[in-house]
Amino acid sequence: MMNNNIFKILEDPSVYGLSPAVSGDSGAAMRRAPEGDMIVVTGSLAAEFECRRPVTLCGMEFEEAPLTAQNAAALRRAFPYCAPSKMLKNAKTVGLGDRLGLASDGHIALLRKHEDVYPVLAQQSMRELSLTSRTYADVLNAATFAVFRQGFRRAWGFDGDHLKNKRDIIDALNTGCTMITLDCGEHIRGQYAKVSDEEALAEAKRLCALSDDTVNALSGVVFDVEGEKISYTEADLARFALVYGDMLDFATDIWQSIIALRNTADFEVSIDEIENPTSPAEHFFIASELIRRGVRPATVAPRFCGEFQKGIDFIGDPAQFEREMKVHAAIARRFGYKISVHSGSDKFSVFPAIARQTHGVFHVKTAGTNYLEAMRIISAHAPDLYRELHNYALAHFDEATVYYHVTTDLSRIPALETLTDAELPSLFEQNDARQLIHICYGVLLSAKKEDNTPLFRDRLYEFWRGHTDEYAKALERHIGRHLELLGC
Ligand code: ZN
Repeated sequence: MMNNNIFKILEDPSVYGLSPAVSGDSGAAMRRAPEGDMIVVTGSLAAEFECRRPVTLCGMEFEEAPLTAQNAAALRRAFPYCAPSKMLKNAKTVGLGDRLGLASDGHIALLRKHEDVYPVLAQQSMRELSLTSRTYADVLNAATFAVFRQGFRRAWGFDGDHLKNKRDIIDALNTGCTMITLDCGEHIRGQYAKVSDEEALAEAKRLCALSDDTVNALSGVVFDVEGEKISYTEADLARFALVYGDMLDFATDIWQSIIALRNTADFEVSIDEIENPTSPAEHFFIASELIRRGVRPATVAPRFCGEFQKGIDFIGDPAQFEREMKVHAAIARRFGYKISVHSGSDKFSVFPAIARQTHGVFHVKTAGTNYLEAMRIISAHAPDLYRELHNYALAHFDEATVYYHVTTDLSRIPALETLTDAELPSLFEQNDARQLIHICYGVLLSAKKEDNTPLFRDRLYEFWRGHTDEYAKALERHIGRHLELLGC
């Protein structure tokens, strides 16, 4: 059968209009079938797909195959755009974490309007994987299917987010991650941050923490970083070596022993989830030491001033943020990487400053807000289900705060019984309610009935599968607001 038949089946209304693609003598597309989406395939390529069955569309014979892991791998082999790649070298990159495996279609629809933006469509941390009972393979395959369904030909990435040890990093790379975000938080010794100069010098000497190479590189020089002057006393260097020495050794080891050897993934060094904001002098110290040791990060995520809590706007002084971002971005430019902003969901008040000060060269990660939009649709279309979810989250909120730092005040959330069904979506305009629903995603998805079957999970997915267009539209609008304020 000729591969151009694959385009003739566009006359069948069940076929996704942007999906048909050709590879050699073969063609493939995706269509809606009663039991879920199916890959339709012709030619020799069909042999690559498992669980095939014949199907007649527009009077022609094809084979179709379900969305299994093996069939996702077959798509990635036959159609390279269905596979992730290293893409952080592009100026504007955004992490679009999709905890539910349902958001990429809406993201792709939005990205068609922003041709200069390159997305990380698959992005999940170990914490998110375990709270959603998913694997890296699930995350990748969901993105692959969306990319194929929507015929998205741009480079896209796969971020093993917030990984903390070699085993997880190797697993993530073996699954196909094209970006590794190394969470260095556990290797930062914050207890040294406020010691006196004398103590810092004595302790650094006792622990041999400060090397001659560091002193030679950074002592006695005033560095001019686009007008910002940075210099170090020997006590500063001793203090920073105590705080960051272990972290630098850790990042260097991961880079040398895994990332540089394999050369299949962009490397991000992340220190965002620590208590103390990263000062420009600390950032410059870290950058200079990483580069001196041969580490080549694509991105670095400092801990910015103020608070970047999940799913709500920036808390803090936007003017201070912009002043500090100016220096952070200048340091990144000097050392040849991009600033990465984590917890970027809904940080509308600082997006313009990020765009300005990075000169439009940045990586911004979002995740939770994509899930919140899915929950907002439930509140609008399935009020009874929403009330059940909301009450369950309220009763189990404490379990969720183990995983996330938030300042949620449950008493500020309007009592559900005072709200009409039509008023339920307004809860998503209220920060405390947003955070309640946001951080409880794991609690809600894993909640079980007495017979150990899922309490909500199946009902939620059934609902979302019946509202894919609404969800895509909601994401286009909401993430679109992010991109516009980021100058995309
Ligand atoms: Zn982070």
